[in-house]
Amino acid sequence: MLEGWESPDVTVYVAAILGLLVVWQYYQMQIMAGRILAIDIFDRSGTRMYIFLPPGHAQSCETCAASNGRFFLPSQVAKKKFSPLIGKCPRPTPCMGVLVGLYGAWLEARGVLEHLRKNSRNGGVQLSAEEVRALVNGQWERCISADTDRLGIHMIEALSYEKINPEVSIESYRYVVNEVKEVRHLMFLVPTYLRLLQLLLWAGEEAEALETIERFEGRFPSTKRGPHFPSDEQRETMKTEKATLLKNLPLQMSA
Ligand SMILES: [Zn+2]
Repeated sequence: MLEGWESPDVTVYVAAILGLLVVWQYYQMQIMAGRILAIDIFDRSGTRMYIFLPPGHAQSCETCAASNGRFFLPSQVAKKKFSPLIGKCPRPTPCMGVLVGLYGAWLEARGVLEHLRKNSRNGGVQLSAEEVRALVNGQWERCISADTDRLGIHMIEALSYEKINPEVSIESYRYVVNEVKEVRHLMFLVPTYLRLLQLLLWAGEEAEALETIERFEGRFPSTKRGPHFPSDEQRETMKTEKATLLKNLPLQMSA
């Protein structure tokens, strides 16, 4: 019955397994030596799509505002000349749009991802502001990607509720400022500090606004530079707001 069956050459499998073990050991040694961040390896499997969101209110130009809710695959974002915008931002200091990466395993996100994979070369996928809010109001917390996506969801929530519910937005920005720990989220920090400050000022929360500026200064000392550090203009904005707040606050306290 088994005449036609040949015994597989076990040595091939053993060699393959040994090969994998050597590669794994090599990566472990590289990670331990600090040459590779563990997050770099994770990153490639942890993000399946990106969404672009400009700051809310009237803070962005027409081009950036019209690019709100555009989705991209990681392969598109990795391209050299990639831009999430439908045109070029005309402002001398470009608007602070954010590209948020998601694993997106919950129902609504899976639908977007499927749609995106089918249409990425053909106009892509763009959701309206309402649809973006509906997406983050889905059951993301109950699915497997909850921990991977938690910070990104708060970032999306913060940006997309600025106009219609600033309190929700402030709460989400606070969460992001407190919880950013992974390398892939560092790029959220500067826009988050600046947006949080703006919303706190509009809400008349001057004491917290001042505290936010002081935390920003502590996080990004003026003597240091880095890939996700603020620009000179952004530092200047913080300085100016701080000076105004310091002028007003003592008056309020003595009143
Ligand atoms: Zn712009």
